[in-house]
Amino acid sequence: MEQEQIIAIREIYWNIDHTIGATFLYLTVLITTAVMAWGILRDIRRWSHGRPANRIGNPVTRFLEFTRQSLGQKKVLRDRRAGVMHALIFFGFLTLFIGTDIIAVEEDFTVPLMGEQAGKILVGDFYKSYEFILDTLGLAFVAGLIWATWRRYRTKPDRLDNRRTDAWVLGVMLFIGIGGFLIEGLRIANQTIGGVPVYEQEWARLAYLGFALATLFRAIGLGDGSPVALMIHPLLWYTHALATGLFMASLPFSKFRHILYTPLNTFFRDLQPKGALDPIPDLEAEIEKEEPRLGVATLADLTWKRRMDLDACMRCGRCQSVCPAHASGALLSPKYIITKLADLQRGDPIHFKDGTIKTLAELNGNGATAETLPLVGTVIEAEELWACTTCNACVHECPAMIEHVDDIVDMRRHLTMIASEVPQGVKRVLEGIERQSNPWR
Ligand code: SF4
Ligand code: SF4
Repeated sequence: MEQEQIIAIREIYWNIDHTIGATFLYLTVLITTAVMAWGILRDIRRWSHGRPANRIGNPVTRFLEFTRQSLGQKKVLRDRRAGVMHALIFFGFLTLFIGTDIIAVEEDFTVPLMGEQAGKILVGDFYKSYEFILDTLGLAFVAGLIWATWRRYRTKPDRLDNRRTDAWVLGVMLFIGIGGFLIEGLRIANQTIGGVPVYEQEWARLAYLGFALATLFRAIGLGDGSPVALMIHPLLWYTHALATGLFMASLPFSKFRHILYTPLNTFFRDLQPKGALDPIPDLEAEIEKEEPRLGVATLADLTWKRRMDLDACMRCGRCQSVCPAHASGALLSPKYIITKLADLQRGDPIHFKDGTIKTLAELNGNGATAETLPLVGTVIEAEELWACTTCNACVHECPAMIEHVDDIVDMRRHLTMIASEVPQGVKRVLEGIERQSNPWR
């Protein structure tokens, strides 16, 4: 018998007690937003301890570049494989985020303000397109995550290092992605609207992945209002909401932070010609001081922008893979220069390139804080700094627009001008310039 076709529509709290479900959601959003905001403010406070840097000129250029890099994934896609993998996750995530926001807008604004009929957004042709697009981009999201997991734990390219939190990052996103499809499948397999099963509707097939799962659920007896399915569905719904809340709360406390800070770092990027180094500010006046600050000796000597750099790094290792010094077997890895400083700034155990992990207390013989700990000789070795050819390949390749070379050169400036610790070869060059204006004398 031909099934009656009804208008496509989404019942937002299907099989969920509206009062309990809504209260749970609002509380989760409230708590996780508060935790996230606290984490972000803590990071901003750390950056504000940095020296000044003028990075607000040319706002239009900055905004255009921010759009090209963040929404267009320009630099990310330069590395084809890793770039496509990241783009699948990024665009999938963005679409699911927008899709969830549409539900929130309908539930909290348009329906309460305009009424059940006029305020409904997820209805008719719009809802059909919504279902198709969200299933497609949701599939891209999950595929990108599976690819990333395979790459990180099976292929293991040299440029990636694994930390325990990486498993959390991939695990929670996979749980959110796959959990969303399971919830959709259970809903399609069991929901009826006015006594008509949603599964029998032509439009239900547009959510093709959810529909395929619904077909599977019905085949194993979890369809048509099965009591077991009606019990599993809310369990999944609440854990999915909780996982999304935990994801939000952990944004500034995990590798997820790059979702927030990489676009920000792109906006505040250096607009000088490529390779131009920042001069030492107020050099003449600084030299006259009793304790001049020339170059970078501690975290506190970095500008606020370079401190933001540290939190924008997602440990992708692209800078390391193009570094000629690293390729030649030198101790230097531009990635580890940034990640070690980032660990120190956040008060995390510091992960070294050779696999050792040390806390600040273990590095700290004289009670210095993260802000006052001399960097060279503790977190960074002078040998790393002098191995750099300042070729700028790392800066060119970094999708987070991090300025490694400025950090390296400024630490070398401190070694040269304050600590007078330079390798023999460099000393000869400097003496040649000083005495005969000829580095090759
Ligand atoms: S600038 Fe230095 S750290 Fe960066 S790629 Fe070149 S040699 Fe490596
Ligand atoms: S500094 Fe840039 S290129 Fe290097 S690991 Fe971090 S984000 Fe990737």
